Amino acid sequence: MPITAKDIMEFRDRIFAIQRAWQQLKAPQLISFTVNMMGNVKVNEATSRVFLQGCLAIDNWCNSTPLNIIKKQQFHHKAGFHYLVGLNHHSSDDIKQAMVNLENSLPLGRLMDIDVIAEDGKPLSRTKLGFDRRKCIVCDNSAKACARSQAHTPLQLRSAVLEMFK
Ligand SMILES: [Zn+2]
Repeated sequence: MPITAKDIMEFRDRIFAIQRAWQQLKAPQLISFTVNMMGNVKVNEATSRVFLQGCLAIDNWCNSTPLNIIKKQQFHHKAGFHYLVGLNHHSSDDIKQAMVNLENSLPLGRLMDIDVIAEDGKPLSRTKLGFDRRKCIVCDNSAKACARSQAHTPLQLRSAVLEMFK
């Protein structure tokens, strides 16, 4: 189902409000996961697969790590998927590091946006922890730079995504 920018904004605002509420509910840190998919269709078989793979990987990491999960919930909306895990861990940096490792190692990881929101409500930055910037799905340049300069055609982007699902 094609969606509008307004749908995306409404969904984003709803998630922001929930994130704030959870942090007040003493889940000091949040893992906040969305599928990174361009275009105006955010919910289809491909994005569902990325979401499922990401949720499973996040759950596996949580289960194998000594931490306190306060709350977790999946949100399904026509404007996309969102997975929130509210938890309590001694180090936000450790969580971010684990999540960057997931993004870098999972076959569909470049389509995943796994943020870690620290106690102060701000997402941790990849580069501050010494990791590379996110890579573009077509070439190996920074994803942001390619998006800004519109380095690739929609067709190139679509075939790069299809390639990942093979
Ligand atoms: Zn590129």
